[in-house]
Amino acid sequence: MEQPISVTRSNFNDWMVPVFAPANFIPVRGEGSRIWDQENKEYIDFAGGIAVNALGHAHPVAVNALTEQATKLWHVGNGYTNEPVLRLAKQLTENTFADKVFFCNSGAEANEAALKLARKVGLDSGVAGKSGIVAFKNAFHGRTLFTVSAGGQPKYSQDFAPLPNGINHVAFNDLEAAKAVINEQTCAVIVEPIQGEGGVIPADIEFLKGLRELCDQFGALLIFDEVQTGVGRTGALYAYMNTGVMPDVLTTAKALGGGFPVGAMLTTDKFAPHFSVGTHGTTYGGNPLASAVAGAVFEFINTPEVLEGVKHRHQYFLDALNTLNAEHQIFEEIRGQGLLIGCVLKAEYAGKAKDITTWAGEEGLLALIAGPDVVRFTPSLIIPEQDIDEGIARLKRALAKLAK
Ligand SMILES: *Cc1c(COP(=O)(O)O)cnc(C)c1O
Repeated sequence: MEQPISVTRSNFNDWMVPVFAPANFIPVRGEGSRIWDQENKEYIDFAGGIAVNALGHAHPVAVNALTEQATKLWHVGNGYTNEPVLRLAKQLTENTFADKVFFCNSGAEANEAALKLARKVGLDSGVAGKSGIVAFKNAFHGRTLFTVSAGGQPKYSQDFAPLPNGINHVAFNDLEAAKAVINEQTCAVIVEPIQGEGGVIPADIEFLKGLRELCDQFGALLIFDEVQTGVGRTGALYAYMNTGVMPDVLTTAKALGGGFPVGAMLTTDKFAPHFSVGTHGTTYGGNPLASAVAGAVFEFINTPEVLEGVKHRHQYFLDALNTLNAEHQIFEEIRGQGLLIGCVLKAEYAGKAKDITTWAGEEGLLALIAGPDVVRFTPSLIIPEQDIDEGIARLKRALAKLAK
């Protein structure tokens, strides 16, 4: 075989549209919760590909599902259904509130489908002008025009005006504010059970319950964006299961494919028929390759052992972080559920989250931010305790640079 083209990190600046500013090393291989770069330097992975690599890297369950399907059938297009997608739909509907699934390739696409479904249901209701969407400040729902508009961070949408209208943003966890804008013209309320990108901020259960009641009162769809919180991330299969509040629509992606791109919008028999033949679609959504991998990943995660393991690791992680913090006094608050953990920096370190992840990289640790003031960890759901210990030791060395 020919030698592959030789590439370096500086080539990113040569050839890539500069929407990202990746770290100054290039990961080339991974195993479990460890990654190696071009220089064969090893990293502990507390980022998990942004809450995606739920089984870590190169897990045999995912690798086998992928390679087995790869020799059979990759893609047929939506003129035909396929076995892996039907199996995955059965798994998702049997294990959640949902009766029906629409498959796509990402979180943004799942939310795009959810918002379009809500608009269609609003139209079909016959209530004039039932197209209003209520969303929350600081929320993140993806990067398509509709989803950045629903998201509550103007920095992601303001450069792309004119935006889709009819979207009203109110303060997260403020039920009175939501009550003031939800009415007969509202077709949907979209909310993250835990705001992920916005800083790892859990929704209050009373807030979610109140939204459920308002949606019932005014005939609006309650959409839970579980793109980040879903598939075991919080220690429940989906975060709504911890709240006692059932949505009408749930979106899932990220961990669903364990690293293979896949997304899905889940809904009920009541609403699914509004998406009749031809009203929405996708070329790749529900393709056999993605569905086979997601089916295997989902089956692996949806067991008491793995889900209990996430809760156990949460406590283990928190104990280690609290011990570290008792010594160094860097975090104001450590919050989140399961293996979605946010460490809020004390006021004197405000704005330093990105620097901390850069120093973490130097020390051999992959970590994330959630806004300028929060360091976020979303590791593999099965990360070994010894990798947590080693990662925390490396974090400690990175934090030492902050003090300087
Ligand atoms: C990541 C994320 C999205 C967007 O998913 P993509 O796959 O990047 O399109 C949407 N909503 C939430 C809550 C997310 O965390």
